[in-house]
Amino acid sequence: MAGSVPTVSELFAAARRRYEQLFGGDAPLIAVCAPGRVNLIGEHTDYNQGFVLPMALPLVTVVVGSQTCGRDVTVVTVTEDADEPHRVDFSLPADGAPLAPGLPRWANYVKGVIEHYRAPPVPGFRAVIASSVPLGGGLSSSASLECSQGGFLIISEMEDDGDKVSKALACQQAEHSHAGVPCGIMDQFVSVLGREGHALLIDCRSLEATPVPLADPGLIILITNSNVKHSLSSSEYPLRRRHCEEAASAMGKSSLRDATMKDLEEAGDRMDEVTVRRARHVIEEIERTVQAAEALRRGEYKEFGRLMVESHNSLRDLYEVSCRELDELVSVALEVEGVYGSRMTGGGFGGCTVTLLQAGSIGRTILHIQSSAFLTTAEGSSNNNSREAPQDHKEPQLSPRMLNLNSSD
Ligand code: ADP
Ligand code: MG
Repeated sequence: MAGSVPTVSELFAAARRRYEQLFGGDAPLIAVCAPGRVNLIGEHTDYNQGFVLPMALPLVTVVVGSQTCGRDVTVVTVTEDADEPHRVDFSLPADGAPLAPGLPRWANYVKGVIEHYRAPPVPGFRAVIASSVPLGGGLSSSASLECSQGGFLIISEMEDDGDKVSKALACQQAEHSHAGVPCGIMDQFVSVLGREGHALLIDCRSLEATPVPLADPGLIILITNSNVKHSLSSSEYPLRRRHCEEAASAMGKSSLRDATMKDLEEAGDRMDEVTVRRARHVIEEIERTVQAAEALRRGEYKEFGRLMVESHNSLRDLYEVSCRELDELVSVALEVEGVYGSRMTGGGFGGCTVTLLQAGSIGRTILHIQSSAFLTTAEGSSNNNSREAPQDHKEPQLSPRMLNLNSSD
């Protein structure tokens, strides 16, 4: 890891210490964690009932706490970059009245999960949350928060896959109803069903999730956080969804999953040019994701990398959800020998890129990205990263921050 990310045990220890400080020295009785994820390919396909290929990360959210006798709930987040009050106190409504969303906004993820776990009734509790998933960085801190909170409320160690699917669906509903984000199922699914050493090919229509082996010591997956988040993301996401629905309906399909490029060509004159481009990205990306999973199974990393680059270009040019910083990170990574492919990951307009490369190339890839990326930062950009050259590539002072998933440092 370039930059410091706490381990899972360090997170648990920090959350436990905070809990004991806050609640009179009592040790918490329940401790649960759930991971964030990186999507390797299959972007903006989940809400079109297509395929996605994410993997769970060693970046996690932990919840520690204990039940109480009454109906009062206190939750504290120790996550540094939560820019709202870190503590929330509320009472669980009696008589089945709904638990309404409110402020702080982050607590709505917790409230939403409580709301969707009402039978049997949830008792009062005190909890502390800590996370190593960057907030709003496209690595799904929100699903890892929901799924860890869901685990905290269920408190069952014997979940089978059916229970896990129900948990993921309840957490997705929580994000819809209480955070107001109409997300697909990918984030919650991989957070609860992800398996070590595997990516997860998820069919977002049938909800079938198939593990795809990804544990080659010669391979590295590098995540680079641009540390930018452009405000466009919240307004553009619903717009993209609407365009997809309009395109599907113009082709007489229930979703873009059922549409082909031939359908799009035939129905093209019933849609505006922007809608056609959005639909083309989704139709081709669904196909690319299936091909990429096959390439991964066969160990064809060059082919996988080629599909990643195609995916990025399509997100940039057809779906128009990339941004200058992500484009720059991708093109700089692709300059390094031994890099198979690179692309933006997550919803876009900032957040992270994911890069697949040969293990032997990791040092020079990190150095090259650190010394090249964002040197052309424009005045007035939301990126306020330092432009200084890195002093030491093990402890870089400048963004982007990088996580090498196959490395222990
Ligand atoms: P992503 O899921 O890609 O990180 P989202 O915008 O979907 O980005 O979710 C980020 C939001 O989730 C944060 O702004 C915050 O409200 C909430 N959140 C996630 N993790 C935490 C945490 N550990 N503590 C407090 N809030 C959190
Ligand atoms: Mg999210």
